[in-house]
Amino acid sequence: AAMFDSLSSSIQKAQRLIGKSGTLTKENMKDPLKEVRRALLEADVSLPVVRRFIKKVEERALGTKVLDGVTPDTQFIKTVLDGVTPDTQFIKTVSNELIDLMGGGVGAKDLEPGFPQIILMAGLQGVGKTTAAGKLALYLKKSKKSCLLVATDVYRPAAIDQLVKLGAAIDVPVFEMGTQVDPVEIAKKGVEEGRRLGVDAVIIDTAGRLQVDEDMMGELRSMKAALRPSDTLLVVDAMTGQEAANLVKAFNDQVDISGAILTKMDGDSRGGAALSVREVSGKPIKFVGVGEKMEALEPFYPERMASRILG
Ligand code: GDP
Repeated sequence: AAMFDSLSSSIQKAQRLIGKSGTLTKENMKDPLKEVRRALLEADVSLPVVRRFIKKVEERALGTKVLDGVTPDTQFIKTVLDGVTPDTQFIKTVSNELIDLMGGGVGAKDLEPGFPQIILMAGLQGVGKTTAAGKLALYLKKSKKSCLLVATDVYRPAAIDQLVKLGAAIDVPVFEMGTQVDPVEIAKKGVEEGRRLGVDAVIIDTAGRLQVDEDMMGELRSMKAALRPSDTLLVVDAMTGQEAANLVKAFNDQVDISGAILTKMDGDSRGGAALSVREVSGKPIKFVGVGEKMEALEPFYPERMASRILG
């Protein structure tokens, strides 16, 4: 809850600046919009994203017409609009645009269907990728879907051990072939094993690197070509703000991901990642990690996030 506190209070301050009398004008929205702009920049949303956002809020807010004459047919609309004052109209517009910014629409973005679903997990080292693989397996298990986890990080034996332990803790089988086999080969064998077991989903944990590098991208592209996964999810750390959004864009340009998982949302992050991912990459955030426990994974709802931000 802490993560959006300052953003939330700034936007509420902007709402108070508008006040309840008159209508929304370019003039009376100037300071409130400045407040929102400052709050978004402080939340580590990138400048171009902030600029487009502010422009849209201004255009939409000014475009809202206030009804004057009351005739029987406008009575209904008038009733609906009753209680709409400039301050609530302003905050409603900000809210709509926040939802839109985060990829709005209806509810959370689901995993893509498949028989079995093949979910490729990508991401840099330390962002919480292996943890997210385990969390996703438990999440699917709770919705009555059986899973197989596949460990392909042959460069770090500790990563394979970690996945094996996670699997044991949540009672989900883990497929591994040690460190001497090609990762793409392990992934293919893993999917075969998943089909043999008749599981609903195969989740493949891949090797991360400390930063974007060509070997990692090449390996992910080979895995994608060999497996045709239903989902390729990039795991990014919310604490890294707009950098997380830029990573989503970079991975999406190179391996065409289906969405992102934003981890460590329980931390003291400022929210910039949640607000920027969709805008800079065009891809949805599908899940958020909200803790170290295996249960700490939630679908990402733009509407809920917007209402958290608005307090
Ligand atoms: P990987 O290198 O990307 O596979 O990262 P790990 O899955 O090993 O996670 C790195 C660290 O981040 C571990 O200490 C995890 O417990 C922690 N972690 C992962 N997800 C979350 C989360 O959503 N919230 C918090 N607070 N910690 C997390």
